[in-house]
Amino acid sequence: MSTVSWWEAPLETLSKDQWEALCDGCGRCCLLKLVDDEDDSLHFTSVVCHLFDEDSCRCTAYSERHVRVPECIEFDTKRLESLDWLPSTCAYRLRADGKPLFDWHPLISGSSQSVIDADISVRGKIVSETHVHPDDTQDFVIRWVEA
Ligand code: SF4
Ligand code: SF4
Repeated sequence: MSTVSWWEAPLETLSKDQWEALCDGCGRCCLLKLVDDEDDSLHFTSVVCHLFDEDSCRCTAYSERHVRVPECIEFDTKRLESLDWLPSTCAYRLRADGKPLFDWHPLISGSSQSVIDADISVRGKIVSETHVHPDDTQDFVIRWVEA
């Protein structure tokens, strides 16, 4: 008989700790996004939120992020309907769509290094918004390296 890992359970059944542990730490959700005026399509840039720490690939003010950065989109087990803006590799989006996690996810690989090795992490590819004029953000639109 095979055992089902907790991250394979429906998102709405996860505990708070499990929910937090599901994040793969890629940092992609912390990149500034632009919406195309003509077709409403969403485009990620390589410009990252000023609260993002590139070495750890984590938010430096996680507990107060929504106060410090009002544009920081909140999502949790009660806000599952709005996950389609997340990158296709995001663990929350994958699980919301009923898909399995990738082998490089730390929960499966056992190491956060696998996210970097798989070229999913934003580390080494970003510039802080503190160094980019808002009018120039559109020059930093990127396409994902998909898994
Ligand atoms: S994109 Fe998803 S998995 Fe990656 S850091 Fe953001 S919430 Fe975590
Ligand atoms: S406030 Fe924190 S979690 Fe939100 S976008 Fe900025 S770095 Fe990411």
